Formats: sequence, structure tokens, C-alpha cells
Amino acid sequence: MFNQRAVKKEGYPGEQTAVPEVVRRSRYPCRLSMYSDAPDVEVSIEEFETFALDRLQVLRAIEDAQLRAKGEDDMRKRVNEALEKHMPSHTNRSKLPPRQLVGERRKDHVSHFILRLAFSRTEELRGWFLRYECALLKHRFQNADLAEKQELLSSAQLRLAHLSPADRGAKLGNASSFYAQQEQLFEVDFERVLDLVGRSQVVLRAGRAFVPQSEVATLLIHEFRHTLTQALSVCAKALPQMGEDERLLPVLQNLSNQTARSEYQSTGAAGAVTAESVVGLSDSFPLCMQHLHSQLARDHHLRHGGRMQLGLFLKGIGLGLQDALVFWRRAFSAMTDDQFQKGYAYNIRHNYGMEGKRADYTPYSCHRVIMSNPPGPGDHHGCPFRHFSSERLRAALHKDSLPDPEVREVADLAQAGHYQVACTRHLELRLLHRRQNNQPQPDADIRLSAVTSPNQYFDLCLGCTKPAPPAAGADTASTAAAILSGAPKAAAAIY
Ligand code: SF4
Repeated sequence: MFNQRAVKKEGYPGEQTAVPEVVRRSRYPCRLSMYSDAPDVEVSIEEFETFALDRLQVLRAIEDAQLRAKGEDDMRKRVNEALEKHMPSHTNRSKLPPRQLVGERRKDHVSHFILRLAFSRTEELRGWFLRYECALLKHRFQNADLAEKQELLSSAQLRLAHLSPADRGAKLGNASSFYAQQEQLFEVDFERVLDLVGRSQVVLRAGRAFVPQSEVATLLIHEFRHTLTQALSVCAKALPQMGEDERLLPVLQNLSNQTARSEYQSTGAAGAVTAESVVGLSDSFPLCMQHLHSQLARDHHLRHGGRMQLGLFLKGIGLGLQDALVFWRRAFSAMTDDQFQKGYAYNIRHNYGMEGKRADYTPYSCHRVIMSNPPGPGDHHGCPFRHFSSERLRAALHKDSLPDPEVREVADLAQAGHYQVACTRHLELRLLHRRQNNQPQPDADIRLSAVTSPNQYFDLCLGCTKPAPPAAGADTASTAAAILSGAPKAAAAIY
């Protein structure tokens, strides 16, 4: 499918001449594409992975922006920043060398098809990919110049029936006043523009919708969604045939797993936290761990799910095995030593890889806490943003002394099903209030990428109390320290 040799052999015709003409004669004359043809180029495994990961970053940035942007302008800015960083794509009017323009478009083309394959595996993955690819095309179309829009529309073959001015009165009657007179109208089946129908932007007559020129993008996205849906089904059927390719399949699997966000590597070194210091650190725990910790203190006991979730989290922040045994023994103060040894000590040693199959268990990610093993009566594990009732969540948020509008903002995000975004906003507000206590700054805000693990939350939250290391690295603790010390947003890798 990918054959780069042809391009290499041919080079880029007329490379020394004017850019638009040269690029127009290449296989990528326009930077916008409906991706109707699979690429016929060879790509190395490294390129295969890098291209796909870069596109994934863009799609995830769109997901983040849709959930968290403050208005259309903010949304456009966030997506443009992600595109500029991971997948720049310049217009034919840019002064860039042809090789670079074509290279950008080749990357766009190839990366789309790699993710098509990677995300065709399950219905959930197909839905995710489809949603954000459509959003990406829409964003690019809206930001394209007129010539690019026309080129894409003509390549998309939208099969539009133009409504002549003479037909307007006959087909629309009085409703023709709904449209401006000079606007061109196209007649299509209403299913193709459900979005416009839902927003009452078109007139309907006998199952046909009359779409003005200004809303043709909706038709374009509908067409793209339709063809991509079919293409993903075809890919899903073809995927098992790739089972023999040991190089590609793990890469594809790894790519699709990353919508659930990759596993966070805890920064806590074993032994960094003692049984005594856990209480002092609990102020920087995420809500799930604060809840488990307070229930443990109240009941002197936690059921299995809670012990696993809290125990592995504490292991991740640096509580070593011996201190873990001391911590849990003290916490379970209502039972005898014998009961503790027989009923609980084995499990603690097991979590540290000292019993049973001696696996080194890692802390749970948010995805795992949210998606698996919901808490029953008497259980305290789980994610408060997912598993608490709205009233209970608001009460828990009020404990942090957040003002009512902020509690409402976070609770509304959780109510809408954006659990990790709600948790991230909660963290941002906590960090912001800490910073405001040191240096009041009206209208200041903090924006972080979505929290993926309770341990990442802890590292970010705790980072604010540590001085930032001299060279600003990529670790999350220094990121939080940079934020709280008022460093520019770019230093904190914030969308
Ligand atoms: S989103 Fe993650 S860190 Fe936050 S409360 Fe839920 S499980 Fe804990």
C-alpha cells in the first residue's frame, strides 16, 4: 500500500520553479483531503509510528479542546497550536520549499490511514476516531482559503442538486424568504444534514432539505463521515489478516490503546514515603484517594477493592513494603495482630511482588478506576466523579473550600460524563487557589492536560510545594511548580 520509491525516483517535478505550480503537479496538490485513496508509498517502521503518534496528539488535542475550550476562538487556537506542533500543513501560498509542502501532506495522508487501521478494531475505537477525524476536517475546512475549499468540494463529489431561482418559489413557497435571495441553494435528502435540521438552519419539504452555500461544509462532513464509516468496517474485517505481521500489529494495538491514555509512570521512589508521612501527604491526594483514606481512618477498615486501589497508589508514590505493612496495621487498629497477619498481610506483600506469582503490580489508572468494578454498598473504591451522586460530589468538593461557581463547574463536567476532565479542573482550581494565596492575581487561570492517573494527580499537586528543579524538565512535578511560580503557560505544556 505504501510505496515511496516512486516519489523518490520521480523527485518533485520542477522543484526549482514557483511553488504553487510545482506542488500542483505532485500527488498532493491541495493540503485538504477526503482521504479517498490509500497511500502508495513505502514508510519505515519509525515513520509509521511517529506519523501516527503525531496525528493521535492532534486528535486528542481536539478532544481536549472540545471539552475544555472557552468558546469558538479558544477552541480554534488550541487546535491550531496542536496542528502547528505535531502536524503542520501549509498552504500553496506559503514560501516553503515544495519538498517540505509535499512532505507535510504525505505525513497527513499516511498517518490518517495508519490510524484508520489502528482504530478499526472495536466499535468504540471506530466511533472515537470518526468523531475526531470529522472534527479535524471541519476545522481545516473552516480555516482554509477559498481556493482550497473549492478544490476540496470539487474532489469530494458531493452530488448536489442546484436549485435554480425559478424553482425556489415552486418548491419553497413562502419559505423561500428564509434564505437570502443571492444565496445559492442545494437540494438534498434531509438525512445528509441532520446537524442543520437539528439547528433549524434549513427548510424541509417532503424529506428534502434546502442547504445554502454557506452550510455546504455540513454536507462535506456528512460525506466524509459516511465514507469513513464504511472504510473503517472494511479495515476491521481486514485487520485479522495482518495477524502474521509481527512488526505492525503491536504498533497498531499500542496506538489504539492510547485513547485510554497511556499508563502513567509514578515518580515516587520506593522508600520515599513512610507510614508516618502518609497523613501529611494526603492533602495532595486526588478525590478518590482522599475518600479512601478518610474512610479508612473512620472505619479502621477497607474492603478489598479499596485496599487494592489505595494500596497500589501508596506504593506508586513511594511507600515501601515494610512501611506499607506498618501503615495498614495501624489503620486496621480494631483487629488483632493475628487477624491482620492471616487476613491482610499476605495481600500487601502480594501487591509488592513478594507472594504468589511475584508480579510487580502497578497503580490503577483513572481509566481502570472509572471503567471497571463499580463500587457496591459498603465499598469506597472507584472515582467520585464517576460513582458519587451529584449531591455527594458537590459536598466533597465543598470540603476544599472552593467557591460555589467552581464547585458547579466541576460538578457539571462530571455530570456530563467528563470524569477525568472534571478531576483535572478540580486540580487546576486547587493549584490556582494555592498560587492565589501566595500571589493574588485576578483572572489568572491554570490549564493542564487531562489527568490520567491518581499518581499523576498527586505528583502534579505535590509539585507545587517543591522548588522547581534548575532545568525545567518534562516531569509533572516541575510542571506544577512552574505553574505555581507563575511561569509562562508554554513552560507547563498546557493546551
Ligand atoms: S479521575 Fe482519576 S484521579 Fe481523579 S478521582 Fe477519578 S480516578 Fe481519581
